[in-house]
Amino acid sequence: MRHIAIVGSGPAGYYTAEAAQKAFGEDVRIDILDRLPTPFGLIRFGVAPDHQSIKKVARRYEKVALSDNVRFVGHVTVGEDIAISELMELYDAVVLATGAPHDRTLDLPGSDLAGVYGSASFVGWYNGHPDFADIDPPLDGRDVVVIGNGNVALDVARILSKTTQEFAGSDIARHALDALETAATRTITILGRRGPHQIAMTPKELGELGELENAAPSVDPSDLPPEAQDEGLEPGQRKSVALLRDFAACADGAGKGKTIMFDFFASPVELLGEERVEGVRVERTELDGEHRPRGTGETYDLPAQLVVTCIGYRSPRIEGVPYDEGAGRFANEDGRILPGLYCVGWARRGPTGTIGTNRPDGYELVDRIAQDIGAGAGKAGRAGLDALLEERGVEIVTFADWQKIDEAEMARAMKGAPREKFVRVEDMIAAHRGE
Ligand code: NAP
Repeated sequence: MRHIAIVGSGPAGYYTAEAAQKAFGEDVRIDILDRLPTPFGLIRFGVAPDHQSIKKVARRYEKVALSDNVRFVGHVTVGEDIAISELMELYDAVVLATGAPHDRTLDLPGSDLAGVYGSASFVGWYNGHPDFADIDPPLDGRDVVVIGNGNVALDVARILSKTTQEFAGSDIARHALDALETAATRTITILGRRGPHQIAMTPKELGELGELENAAPSVDPSDLPPEAQDEGLEPGQRKSVALLRDFAACADGAGKGKTIMFDFFASPVELLGEERVEGVRVERTELDGEHRPRGTGETYDLPAQLVVTCIGYRSPRIEGVPYDEGAGRFANEDGRILPGLYCVGWARRGPTGTIGTNRPDGYELVDRIAQDIGAGAGKAGRAGLDALLEERGVEIVTFADWQKIDEAEMARAMKGAPREKFVRVEDMIAAHRGE
């Protein structure tokens, strides 16, 4: 029998479990550990609440979760309740599928002012993540600056722009919906340190900005390169740039209450304010021969009472696990970290790609694990884990427990919404205990 522990129950974790099931059939036992009582990681806490169709992929993970040789072990923190070295003693392979839930930080003067958030906390807030449910971002100002030109910047700008009606059918956390409903936001400026050709935004997500009820995107035509240069772009990027051209050409945003301004060639150099952020000092950039941004020395100030940085993520460190500081992920070679210790998904390659990218990642890793562990080394596996956790008084949350939480969340949903999430761990536990 082979025993595999997967740390993290997001897409990378479940695709790896699925691949291990397919590769080893009945000759494997897989435990998927998660710090929280709820499975699916990024699907629940990262994917935007108004992108419900993307969340449907969880049904596929549920099928894996409900099979006999896979077990969800929720509410167990690796590094606190159990050390990674102990897991490695108990299992033939330990796979870190932790994702990259920490923000890459913007180390600028003023970054620590009140009102400045990384996307992990801001997205966590509107998605009801227990760690961020209480951050209470200030929405009493007219001006928000969103830093970064990726899809997360688009998610944040869109969530800040939507009307309450546009959240119908979403699972946005109630506290966020209430706060957004009374927000004073009028202008959301998306800062990109490079130009329209260098955006990391995909056309579907960018196109959504053009369809908002009470907000209109705005692009300065002079930021756009000559149209003929779009020919050199790959097709997806060409579509995105075409959308920016439409936004630049369309001047009918005036009737809408909010504006989403794209400010290109604009690199933040300082966050301004005394205690609370009041603005962002921006330096105009130009591109060098390799399309990298270079400051021109020209600066200007933008007002901002809320700043959200959307500049990428890092994996959390785990004691005893080699870490690549520069890349912000575990040090690994094709997913191998140490004998018996692996990583997959964002924890392996950094925060890039779509949810589907994690599928081949998981399958390839299982091929390597198969080469390394043979038929298994007679390890204790889940029986050993259970004994250790019981000794330590750690009560796990099983998949059946999660299903009770799931039912309770669906039962308390607002009309038309798929669920109303519990945002506190103790409420999740109480829900599965039926308290
Ligand atoms: P991302 O795609 O890597 O974009 C990060 C952005 O931050 C880039 O525009 C980058 O600019 C900018 N940036 C980095 N450091 C900066 C700095 N110091 N100052 C100013 N700007 C800086 O990351 P993401 O938006 O966090 O998305 C992560 C992954 O999740 C991506 O693969 C994304 O496509 C995916 N995602 C997908 C969806 C969806 O499909 N609906 C939704 C959300 C996220 P440079 O290019 O100049 O470095």
